[in-house]
Amino acid sequence: MEIDFLIIGQGLAGSAMGYRLIQEGKKVILLDQPERNQSSRVAAGLFNPVTGRKMVKTWKGEVLFPEIIPFYQELEQVTGKKFLTIQPIYRPFLSIEEQNEWMGHSSDQEIQPFVKKIEVESQDARLKDSFGGVLLQYSGWLDIPAFLEGMATFFGDRLHQEEFKEEELVRLGEYWQYKQWRAKALIYCNGLGAMRSRFFSFLPFAPVKGEILEVKQNFDPPFIVNRGVFRVPLPNGNFRVGSTYTWHDLDEGPTATA
Ligand SMILES: Cc1cc2nc3c(=O)[nH]c(=O)nc-3n(C[C@H](O)[C@H](O)[C@H](O)COP(=O)(O)OP(=O)(O)OC[C@H]3O[C@@H](n4cnc5c(N)ncnc54)[C@H](O)[C@@H]3O)c2cc1C
Repeated sequence: MEIDFLIIGQGLAGSAMGYRLIQEGKKVILLDQPERNQSSRVAAGLFNPVTGRKMVKTWKGEVLFPEIIPFYQELEQVTGKKFLTIQPIYRPFLSIEEQNEWMGHSSDQEIQPFVKKIEVESQDARLKDSFGGVLLQYSGWLDIPAFLEGMATFFGDRLHQEEFKEEELVRLGEYWQYKQWRAKALIYCNGLGAMRSRFFSFLPFAPVKGEILEVKQNFDPPFIVNRGVFRVPLPNGNFRVGSTYTWHDLDEGPTATA
């Protein structure tokens, strides 16, 4: 069967790529082995326009952020599922100096569109935010498992739940032959799986591991709190907190230390 693209992996990347190509009228097949390590299934799904200890605009924020909300809203319509939550992020200030710094930042053209408000007083003692904080907008989180399920239904028989074995891939003239498919191009969206590919072995991958925790709490402000650790409100008084970040213990699965 002749196709335009064979996409390997149906995480966030493969789903978005597959959808856009189908919209462009391309013939697409996706292969996904759900038993593989899937960052998308365990991620918190936060999208935050201003990040890092130094609070800088997220990489390519000016291009990506105007796309995020309309893109996932469109996919909610297409799949008939709800997975997008648009919610401000509140970052408490730790000192008066930081508050002053943010007063300066708010005229910075790169960051200013993402600042909803600068609070100079505490919003709640439980937040330990005596110096106030910054409220960021165009942020929120995606329920990624629900999104992936919706997209799997959308792809229908274009999606095959099977392991892609690179050793079975054959170059035939202009095409890549893999099993019954003859593809004009391959797109690797297989996350860390790309480390084992002959095409990407030259890349200096540095995998990291992250763990998140779900907790029940009875404090529910109308924003995500983010200060070193994020706290995302989920339904029924549950909250997702995290994430840890390590380059050392890369075993799969949760740890007591985290
Ligand atoms: C704990 C944690 C929290 C995170 N929180 C956030 C966050 O809040 N915000 C954020 O932006 N990012 C977050 N991330 C990062 C984010 O999860 C990843 O950047 C993103 O999910 C990567 O998506 P992907 O589609 O590239 O890869 P993946 O989700 O890993 O998808 C790859 C897919 O390819 C499949 N696959 C692999 N090999 C094969 C094969 N040989 N054959 C067939 N299928 C194969 C896998 O099964 C999988 O479905 C977090 C990550 C972790 C671990």
